[in-house]
Amino acid sequence: MSREITLIRGDGIGPEITAATLEVLSALAVPIAWDEQVGGRAAVAAHGDPLPAATLDSIRRTRLALKGPLTTPVGGGYRSVTVALRQEFDLYANVRPARSIVPGGRYENVDLVVVRENTEGLYIGLDATFKVAGDRRALAQAMSITTREGSERICRYAFDYAVQHGRKKVTIVHKANILKATSGLFLDSGRRVAEKYRERVTCDDRIVDNCAMQLVLDPWQFDVIVTTNLFGDILSDEAAGLVGGLGLAPGGNVGTHAAIFEAVHGSAPDIAGRGVANPAALMLAAVMMLDHMGEGDAARRMHEAIVTTIARDNVRTRDLGGNASTADFARAVTRRL
Ligand code: NAD
Repeated sequence: MSREITLIRGDGIGPEITAATLEVLSALAVPIAWDEQVGGRAAVAAHGDPLPAATLDSIRRTRLALKGPLTTPVGGGYRSVTVALRQEFDLYANVRPARSIVPGGRYENVDLVVVRENTEGLYIGLDATFKVAGDRRALAQAMSITTREGSERICRYAFDYAVQHGRKKVTIVHKANILKATSGLFLDSGRRVAEKYRERVTCDDRIVDNCAMQLVLDPWQFDVIVTTNLFGDILSDEAAGLVGGLGLAPGGNVGTHAAIFEAVHGSAPDIAGRGVANPAALMLAAVMMLDHMGEGDAARRMHEAIVTTIARDNVRTRDLGGNASTADFARAVTRRL
């Protein structure tokens, strides 16, 4: 029986990298029935709404989506559809693996995963300026929310992920020395969760600034990192930078009732429509999706084909120093399968 999955091709380079990813997925012969929906600019053009009800209904039904990048207008216009989707479906875990693929880079054999809390912290939107003595922006204040429930569920997710993926260690990253209440609660919750997994997964913790430095000095010491929203945003980009940048960085947004997989990068308007974008990040996101569906064997085959194409066959797009087009890369990965 086919598994129904919502597909959003996205804006900018989205349609090109999605076509490339679908070509590879269809060669895998995993039975998938795509329910194609729109979001962002394409949805505004078609329905006058960046996040139409039909798209939300589809994800509510399928509980699983593969999504291309969506453009967010700067300084006005509609709010980020990607962020709205995370909130709508309470996708509390943002999972971003960073693995070295291109040989000869600055960091070989890096293999770590950042699990970022996706719904709390400084991202709750309580961020305001205040008027003092006629200056409308004399003072600004942001509120950060940390809950025990939110902290425990993201830490449980990280430890469960470690167990399921044969990983040995979870590092809790915090700033509890300064933010004694918020970060302190996160660290405390993480340590409590760690106790329950003591037999299976080891646990340590790092203050975020030290963690950022250690990632550059010795990224091999890390296995799974679990942290709050803002720290996770920054550290996962740092980790992506260690292993070749945005063209190779996939991400999953996972909740209890739904999951959306996408590339970490945006719609890259500067190269859209030219057939040169690297589809590997979205392909790797599709690998994560297959794994999430319980299609472990297909996920392994697809991952191996992508890695071999880049590392052994030297078929690479421009961002990785090659001259392959998006379509060349898709063909090469499909051949490997
Ligand atoms: P971007 O990630 O789109 O691009 C940054 C740089 O990386 C550009 O030079 C681009 O050409 C390059 N790049 C990105 N992906 C690439 C790929 N697959 N292959 C080759 N090169 C690639 O970031 P930006 O320019 O800051 O954002 C553009 C738009 O994307 C904005 O509207 C932003 O809001 C949106 N965005 C969406 C998402 C999402 O949907 N998840 C994520 C980030 C940004």
